[in-house]
Amino acid sequence: MGAETKVIRCSGHKNNNSRCGREKEVSMNFNGEWYCWQHEYQRYEHGFRLAHNVNYKLDGRMKHLAKQILEKKRDLWQVRDAIGIENIGFVRCFLKKKSRGKVTYADCRKVTGPYAAMIPYKFIITFYDYNTSLLSVNQQKILMYHELKHIGPNGYIVPHDIEDFSDILQKYGIDWASEGVEVPDILSEEVV
Ligand SMILES: [Zn+2]
Ligand SMILES: [Zn+2]
Repeated sequence: MGAETKVIRCSGHKNNNSRCGREKEVSMNFNGEWYCWQHEYQRYEHGFRLAHNVNYKLDGRMKHLAKQILEKKRDLWQVRDAIGIENIGFVRCFLKKKSRGKVTYADCRKVTGPYAAMIPYKFIITFYDYNTSLLSVNQQKILMYHELKHIGPNGYIVPHDIEDFSDILQKYGIDWASEGVEVPDILSEEVV
């Protein structure tokens, strides 16, 4: 006689706040919550610490993803050749990160000053796991692409070339301020 089982659903949420659809078969007497691999970090509402208060950890999976993106994206080939993936450290952070009230998914920093004497990387890309668990796998790929674009082949951080409000970009396109681009008259009565 086989043990009885039931199917439960991941307790995680996607970034549109809908419930994750992943399911898992568990034994009948399992009563607890289960989180899929993508949402496992949501189990810890306030982020969590590894043993010995380690909040940051090197991550090989991120490096693998970055390697694929560096191979595929032509605009990053200079970074791939001039900096080299071996000079980029990939780190996961297990704390909930916010910056100026906004959720931070990831950042890219240059190793400078005395740290350069101690750290065997020129750049460090950090993913904030609690926050990135809200993103789909494809969004995380774009996130990595975004962070890699911050690395300049000359060894310096490349700042964003656009700084804007996301609702403006959504409504009017990322080129709204470029020459010759037609935008609606936001004061017109037909435009709400
Ligand atoms: Zn899930
Ligand atoms: Zn950025």
